[in-house]
Amino acid sequence: KELVFSGVQPTGNLHLGNYLGAIKRFVEMQARDAQCLYCVVDMHAITLWQDPEALRGQIREVTAAFLAAGIDPKRSIVFNQSQVPQHAELAWIFNCVARLGWLNRMTQFKDKAGKDRENASIGLYDYPVLMAADILAYRATHVPVGEDQKQHLELTRDIAQKFNTDFGASISAHGHGEGFFPLTEPLIGGPAARVMSLRDGAKKMSKSDPSDNSRINLTDDSDLIAQKVRKAKTDPDALPSETEGLKGRPEADNLVGIFAALSETTREAVLQQYGGAQFSAFKGALVDLAVEKLAPINAEMKRLTADPAHIDAVLADGAERAEAIAAPTLAAVKDIVGFVRRG
Ligand code: ATP
Ligand code: MG
Repeated sequence: KELVFSGVQPTGNLHLGNYLGAIKRFVEMQARDAQCLYCVVDMHAITLWQDPEALRGQIREVTAAFLAAGIDPKRSIVFNQSQVPQHAELAWIFNCVARLGWLNRMTQFKDKAGKDRENASIGLYDYPVLMAADILAYRATHVPVGEDQKQHLELTRDIAQKFNTDFGASISAHGHGEGFFPLTEPLIGGPAARVMSLRDGAKKMSKSDPSDNSRINLTDDSDLIAQKVRKAKTDPDALPSETEGLKGRPEADNLVGIFAALSETTREAVLQQYGGAQFSAFKGALVDLAVEKLAPINAEMKRLTADPAHIDAVLADGAERAEAIAAPTLAAVKDIVGFVRRG
């Protein structure tokens, strides 16, 4: 049976890339006959310093975004990472499975640590190992993520495989099948797997970009969305036809991709309709579409964040259900590695 896991960091500024690349696809996975777990990964968030009071608000805001986008907390398990201790416990065991050389290749660490690498937190370096623990504590089979997480999913598979081999004899001695940990499949795809900055077609849209005009936030009102789309960088030519295509035109490619994802179609279909149009006209249509799709989510997020007690109750219920899945896995892992159970 399919088991889906994914997470979003409560680092503020939830944006259109998070929605189209991740959250919207979480909702689509929920419609399939799969158990879905969607996690607000606050332990990942503190790998870069977060103001404690702001962090609490951001955790509730990501939860609100999940619910507002259509994740049903009865069907799916919506929870907060730090409320389920098995994530950190499994991460430690995986720290002893993962190799330094594997982590040294992770590009997200290099990007986020920047030039002053000596001063980066150990947590930022170890981020992908905690992510493997998030996924494998539930022995998840599928993880919907944006394109930027591909390398981390490969590391998750490497850790699962090495654990399965290193402890192969013990795994079968304890009565488990050979593939104790599954080789989790990343689900990366669709026209918005990598939404780019509105200011720079070579950079991904990101929460941490200092320019607010680089992204559309899920908290932006309709006027601000319109303003940001109109200001979005483009090239001087009209939109290409379907046959000309978007090669070599990163900004046009990005806007067409966003349009396709919002209207649940393909870039080709968008070009069939808008090929030859000027950007001014296309941007007008994009504003209308983005406002139509995002305004209801924005309104529902506002309504939900006004009632933090309700959000906290959803998270508490989710944590209990998540722990019921993760605890037996951790108990088995501890047996497998040779720990002694408490009395
Ligand atoms: P940060 O800059 O703090 O890392 P982020 O925007 O990358 O923030 P995350 O919480 O790290 O957000 O990622 C949550 C999910 O959103 C992940 O599945 C990630 O792949 C996806 N995602 C992030 N940015 C984009 C983007 N520009 N396009 C598509 N998906 C994205
Ligand atoms: Mg990220």
